[in-house]
This record gives sequence, structure tokens and C-alpha cells, in this order.
Amino acid sequence: MDAAAIHLTTLVDDLPGVEPAVSLGLHGMGLRCVADLLLHLPQRYDRLRFDRTIADLQTLGHNGSLPREIVELTGEIVSMRPGFRRRTPTEAVIDDGTAAMTLTFFNQPWMARKLQVGSTVLVTGEPRLYKAQLQMSNPRVSAATNASAELHSMARDLELRGVYTASEAVPSRTIAAIINRILDSAVGLLDDHLSDTFRAARNLPTLAESYRHLHRPEHGDDIPPARRRLAYDELFLLQLGVAMRRHHRQTTLRAPALSVSAAIVDRIKSRLPFTLTSAQARVLGEISGDLERTVPMNRLLQGDVGSGKTAVAAASMLLAVATGAQAVLVAPTELLAEQHMSTIRNMLDDSDVNFELLTGSTKPATRRVLLERLREGDIDVLIGTHALFNESVSFRNLALAVIDEQHRFGVHQRAMLRNAGDTDQQRPHQLVMTATPIPRTMSLSIFGDLDVSIIDERPPGRLGIITRHVEPSETDRVYAHLAERAGRGELAWIVVPVIDESAAALTDLQSHLNRLRAGPLRALRLDAMHGRLPADERDDIMARFRVGELDALVCTTVIEVGVDVPKATMIVIENADRFGLAQLHQLRGRVGRGEKAGLCVLVSEPATDDGRDRIEAMVETEDGFRIAERDLAIRGPGELFGIRQSGMPPFRVADLQRDRDLLRMARTDALALIESDPELEDPTHALLRRRLLKAHGQWMGLGDVG
Ligand code: ADP
Ligand code: MG
Repeated sequence: MDAAAIHLTTLVDDLPGVEPAVSLGLHGMGLRCVADLLLHLPQRYDRLRFDRTIADLQTLGHNGSLPREIVELTGEIVSMRPGFRRRTPTEAVIDDGTAAMTLTFFNQPWMARKLQVGSTVLVTGEPRLYKAQLQMSNPRVSAATNASAELHSMARDLELRGVYTASEAVPSRTIAAIINRILDSAVGLLDDHLSDTFRAARNLPTLAESYRHLHRPEHGDDIPPARRRLAYDELFLLQLGVAMRRHHRQTTLRAPALSVSAAIVDRIKSRLPFTLTSAQARVLGEISGDLERTVPMNRLLQGDVGSGKTAVAAASMLLAVATGAQAVLVAPTELLAEQHMSTIRNMLDDSDVNFELLTGSTKPATRRVLLERLREGDIDVLIGTHALFNESVSFRNLALAVIDEQHRFGVHQRAMLRNAGDTDQQRPHQLVMTATPIPRTMSLSIFGDLDVSIIDERPPGRLGIITRHVEPSETDRVYAHLAERAGRGELAWIVVPVIDESAAALTDLQSHLNRLRAGPLRALRLDAMHGRLPADERDDIMARFRVGELDALVCTTVIEVGVDVPKATMIVIENADRFGLAQLHQLRGRVGRGEKAGLCVLVSEPATDDGRDRIEAMVETEDGFRIAERDLAIRGPGELFGIRQSGMPPFRVADLQRDRDLLRMARTDALALIESDPELEDPTHALLRRRLLKAHGQWMGLGDVG
């Protein structure tokens, strides 16, 4: 096939000079067609010298002016001595016709086979002087093939060469040669979705030029503008999706507008067992402002563990109920749903508000009755677990859905909560609560469609939490201290890592409980708590613990989020290095919720580096924001915010940290464009629209938007 006849969809198998083994290898890497090859950008660039001979290098070395550069040269292997285990490296001598030099290979026993005396090879590496002798250590070696000869001839004056993610079967060099062959014709086929004027105003090169420069830079200066263009594209498309969704929510979707009077707000505040902090009051004001509008609220409430988010949520739901509407509270675990139930019960005991609990443990008959009453409007507040989203639940007039402690965001989370007589355009107001602070760059980009409220103040009188790390050999002392505190009426959590709560895993929990009962906590009243217990037993245990009929609970991470027992002042976390950082911070937040200082003891052997880092971070700071920053550094945003599960495609070029300015520009541009052409219907935007839907249509659910 003539290179001029290729299309973007031409299969790699059909490209000139691609052997079957190579094309198989390319397919294995997901590189199926010409477009895939274009998108496969170099990971980095080697600054290469092709014009150095070994004799040149020796002269430079003797003059003490050997530059730090990567040299590529072809020569014959004239001798070879295999290495012995780790002690002595494999050594070979290569002669390029001008002089000879030694190549040394550490820990690469297989090299001996590759370095056949008499064969001609291509070596790439950094020449160094070692004991006044020129040598290269651990250079890359490949057979001097046509591909390398081809690259050499075309690359005479190139100083940068892209290094591609490659595989055993298809080395970077081969990928470079194939891409080089098709590059000029392929970039000629690219349509640009940004107009000349748009690009000129932002100083962005064309797509064609950008791809050409990234694959084959003629100069180091070629790379940054090309990278900037592609990064801008990624950010711009994402921002367009976000802006489109926001516009859709604001103009098409409708939520019930509630008339919230100051009198109602005051009445509800007076029902709370405490005075709201000023941060809580401010956030409640932001929420009630949203509830009065017909645009569905899409608000994220962010506040560190123990900052009092739940109280704000409860008050918001009561606002809705006071205006005659229904509200729903969705919790991540049954245990937490049960706790919310009892909190609300305490607040509303003497009122005529109807509230009910619906979880996976609700009996089918009860469930049927509940769903019926919900539809009739006989229930004002429903409290439940995420299981609610798995089936369609109909409300008579649902105004507010609160989603508690969601630290894994389904970024596109479509509530399956329907109002009676709903059309597709009806949505309840939505409030999502989380203890994980979202960095500014993230909230501008991925979560750009959310309004954010922050509680940055703790309830008064909090003395904080002391965190200690102890070795397993010291636990007797820890438990002795726990027993002493129990004598003063303080309660404690003891957390054991149980990964999946299977019957087998739960025996660990039981045996730990038995050990404590037989030994250090002999005199205490203990019980176990985990997610597998039947709901009524769980309820009973929590109730006894809350009032102090039990001194300590040995539990799984079922208590990780939200659980609130103010009398608990100490938490012991066994094998603490097995937990993630966010998880440890959440667990620690189970104490220090009352007027006494909390104590968190992390029991762990110094294990892996990561484990040690997490423990150190915990001991060092109590600040959830700093913990999240450390966690972000250790795990990356994908894991932390559940982005990986959301289906959002990862950035190929853009980097939210480095490209902050570009992000801001992309955001402004996207908002302006969607303002002027909300659905991108203008024919001049057709290509842009197509690329937007291809990149983000599915995971963002733009299908029903545009
Ligand atoms: P979060 O959900 O943010 O972790 P909670 O709403 O569970 O925090 O509140 C933590 C504890 O602080 C609870 O025991 C709650 O009753 C109490 N609390 C919340 N707000 C206040 C306040 N304004 N004054 C005193 N105590 C409060
Ligand atoms: Mg909470």
C-alpha cells in the first residue's frame, strides 16, 4: 500500500513494512489503526547524538570534556565475557571501525546470549569514564536492523527522539519507525475542531502540527506548544461536558421550589440539641437559598470528620418537610442509616413528622407497605442505604435527596428516585456530603457542575485527638490503659482488619475478642460489631454501647464512616498499616466527638514503606485537608475520588496540577461557548460536538442532554 493512500482507520496490518509478528504486537498494545498510532505519543524524548564515533569520544574523554549525552552507534562485538551471578557484570567490547570500548551489563545474565561475537549491533547509552577508560554501562542493545538504519538516515540532524511505551515484541524503535513512515500523510487527514480564529486568539497550533511535532520534534522548542494544544483539547472537552450538563440542569430540569420562611428556619434550629456553629448556619443558609429555586440544587457539603455535617443535613430535610414536601437521606451503610434514624427520632419525638427506615434488612412485607405509604405521601422523611438506588422508589413529592458520607463519588450518579407523575425533566434538589476535601483544581474540572459548601469549623469545646503509633509487643500496655479509662466510664472502639466480612474472615474478629476477654480486658463488658449481624442485634448492641452498658466494641470497618458515639474517647486500630490513609482518618474520627479529648492508637509493625508513610501522616496531623493531600500524593486522584470507577477517560497529556492556567482558560472558553450554543447545534460546531460525545458522552450521560 502506498503511504499516501492511508486513512485514519487503516489497520496497522495493512501498513507497508509491518510484519505479521509486529502487527500482532501492536494489536496487543491496543494500537489497531493509524489513528491509534497517532494518539500513541512518546512518553519522553532521548536527546541523541548519532554522529559520535568511539574515537571522538575517547578524545573528548582524555581532554576531560566528555559531555553528558546519549550516544547511539553501530559496531561489531569483538569479544565478550559472561558475568557471574550478581558479583561480576557481563562485559563486551564493541568496535565501530574507529576504536573500541567496553560495554558492561549488571544483573542482565541474558545479555551474554544476545552479544554474539562477530555480530553487528546498535547500542544506545551514555558514555562514561571509569578508571580513565571509556565505557558504557547498561546500554540498550539491539540488532542493527533496517528500522534502525532507516531512523538513522532520516535522523541525521535530529537530536530528539521520542521514546514510546513499547513491549517485548515491539520495541520503541520499531514503533518510531512505523509512525515516522505514516506521520506526514496521517496528520494531513486530521480535521481540526478548533477554527483558525479561535486558535489564533489563544495561540494554539493546529492538531496536525501538534501531532507532527510531538512524534517528530525538529527542535526542543517544538514540543511545549504542541503539548499545550493537546492538553487544552482534553481540558476543553471535559469543561464543555461539564458546562453542557450544568446548562441542562439550569434551563431544562425543574425541582420543586420551596417557600422557606425565616420562621420555619428558626423553628427547626430550635429543635436541634445544640446551637449551630456559624459555619453550619452559613451552609444551612446556602442550602435553603437553593431550595427556594426551581433549578435543582447540586451541592456538595464538605466538612472534616466530626464537623457536624449530619446536623445540617437533618435541618435541611426538616426545611423540606415543613413546606409539605418529602425528603430522603441515603447512607453508605445500614449501621449508619440506623444511627441517622435514631438521631432524627430524638429530634422529632414529639412532632407529627413521619419518618421511616428502609434498608436491605427490611422485611419484604414491611417494605411493600413502606413503598406504598411513600407513594401516598404518608412518609415525610425516608432514611435508607444505597440499595435505594438499585430499584425505582416513587415518592409523592420528593423535594430533597441527601447523600451522606460519599467519599467515592459516582461522578455521574443518576438518582433513581422518582416523584409520582414525574416527567424526565423533574429532579429533586440534591445534597452530597463528604469528609474528603476536593482540591480546587478537581472541583473546577471534574466536579465543575457542583456548588460547594464548606464547614471549616468544629463544634465548640472539642479538645482534639492524640494519635500514637505502638508496636504489637506493646499492646498489653495499651489495653491496660483502655481498661483504666473504662473504669472512668469512657468507651472504646477496637478495630480489627477484616477485609470482606466473610464468615471465615470474621473468625479473626471473634478470636481477637476472645483473646481480650481472656486476657487484658477480662474485667470489661465487651461485644463485637460487624456488618453481617442481623439489623436488630446491631441496633441492640449499638444502643447498649451508646448508654455505656458495654465498655468496648471490637469491630470491623463497618464503623468507618459517620458512626457517632460521643462517649467513646479511645480507638485502637490493630494492624493499622493495612488500612488506607483516608480510612484511618475516618476511623480516628469516631473519637473526639464529645467534650473529652480523643486518643487514637495505631498498632502496627513497621511494614511496607507505604504503610509506614500512612502511619507517619496520621501521627503528624489531625487535619483532614492535609491527610487528603498526602493521600492524593500516595494514591492519585483516580483512587481517591472514585474517578476510575466513574468511567471518565484518563488524561493523556493534561495534568491538573501543572496545567492550572490552561484549565482556567478552557473553563472560561467552555462556559462562553455553551452560553452561546448550549447544545452545540451550530454546523460549525458539529465536529467539536462529535468529539465531545465520543470522549465524554457516555460516562457523563450527555446522551439525554445534547
Ligand atoms: P460529621 O457527620 O460531619 O462527621 P456529625 O454531624 O456526626 O459530624 O457531628 C459530630 C458530633 O458533633 C455529633 O455528636 C453531633 O451531635 C455533634 N455536633 C454537631 N454540631 C454541633 C454543634 N453545633 N454543637 C455541638 N455539637 C455538635
Ligand atoms: Mg456524618
